[in-house]
Amino acid sequence: MSELLSVSEATRQLLAHFTPLQSICLPLDQARNQVSAEDIQASFDLPQFTNASMDGFAVRSTDVVAAGEQSPVRLEVVADIPAGRWLQLRLEAGKAARIMTGAPLPDGADAVVPVEGTDVRFRGPGQPAPPSVLIFAPAQAGDNVRRKASDVKAGNLILAKGRRLQPQDLGMLAMFGMRLVAVTRRPRVAVISTGDELQPLDSALQPGKIYDSNNTLLSAQVEKYGGESLCFGVVPDEAATIEAVLDRAVAGGADLIVSSAGVSVGAFDYVRHVVERNGHLQFWRVNMRPGKPLAFGVYRSVPFIGLPGNPVSAFVTFELFVRPALLKMKGIEGDERRIQSVTLVEAVESDGRESYLRAVAREEDGQWIARLTGHQGSGNLFSLVQANALLIIPAGVRALAKGSQAQAWIL
Ligand code: AMP
Ligand code: MG
Repeated sequence: MSELLSVSEATRQLLAHFTPLQSICLPLDQARNQVSAEDIQASFDLPQFTNASMDGFAVRSTDVVAAGEQSPVRLEVVADIPAGRWLQLRLEAGKAARIMTGAPLPDGADAVVPVEGTDVRFRGPGQPAPPSVLIFAPAQAGDNVRRKASDVKAGNLILAKGRRLQPQDLGMLAMFGMRLVAVTRRPRVAVISTGDELQPLDSALQPGKIYDSNNTLLSAQVEKYGGESLCFGVVPDEAATIEAVLDRAVAGGADLIVSSAGVSVGAFDYVRHVVERNGHLQFWRVNMRPGKPLAFGVYRSVPFIGLPGNPVSAFVTFELFVRPALLKMKGIEGDERRIQSVTLVEAVESDGRESYLRAVAREEDGQWIARLTGHQGSGNLFSLVQANALLIIPAGVRALAKGSQAQAWIL
């Protein structure tokens, strides 16, 4: 066992083969979850002009500092400013303008008295502005006013390079009228299933065969982490065919080739040999469970990750090794894993390898607890479907008593 690589050493060696990809420009509606390829500065102030933050009356605060219920101030209404209208107007002493939220504040005005502080009630739309207004509430300079540049100043950094673009980020870019954003190109990942027992989903299942589920599973993981999956379907356990498909993946411009199965010690496990023949195998086998027979190397000049065939092993090793490679190619520093300390509500056993056990973790009375989702065989995909977390049992630990603390990786 001691000759096996640790998970962290395997990750370190593997990630050394990846660098961020070039950038491309995408329309905002295609950029969600993509990663900003450059720092983005504000091209103008936000707000671009000082405006009202409430419906009411724009005033000169000096006219109404002393206004109150018992001492209302009457102002002449000289203009009506809906949102979207730009008026060349200077408000003189003793005057007011009816103004709506978002409308530009006229020169001379420095505050807005909300309609609730006046004798006017806008009962529904379509009411004309009154000739005058009684102000019942005092106003200070700046009240209910959104100052030009109070949110963002022109030139400010608004989104840093390496940021995964969220809906609010895209909304922010749209505020500046940007239609395109530079993002790191999506990594193209060739996904290949190997095994004589596998059938594509559109065929009738023959005795002794199973459907190829890894293709669906792994392609979905690729897409989930912002990659583009190039699907190469099912390949039989034949060296020549495996080689031909790997060559097609290289010719197809894959940034990374991910295969599943055929990397163990079975009599028909040819994948490693094919990779060694046309490139090099950097490591094979990692001190973990599930997923020990993991292979990493370079096929021709393309990084290659050979995942084990059992669906849970394929899933876990993808999360551990393929995902960080995708994030690095996308230009994201650090991994975005969510780790939670939990109390085990049952005893847990391990075999001394670094283990990733399917579990349900949840908060109960202010405390995070976790229990396993049953049988941990690496072919039992249903216990992964029922889980929301992977419990991480460090290498060298063989048992954890009920009540002990552990780390849960929330999926
Ligand atoms: P292997 O690594 O080739 O020994 O495969 C390990 C186990 O995973 C076997 O039971 C295979 O049938 C199963 N397996 C391999 N590839 C797939 C796949 N694409 N979909 C579902 N199960 C698979
Ligand atoms: Mg096989």
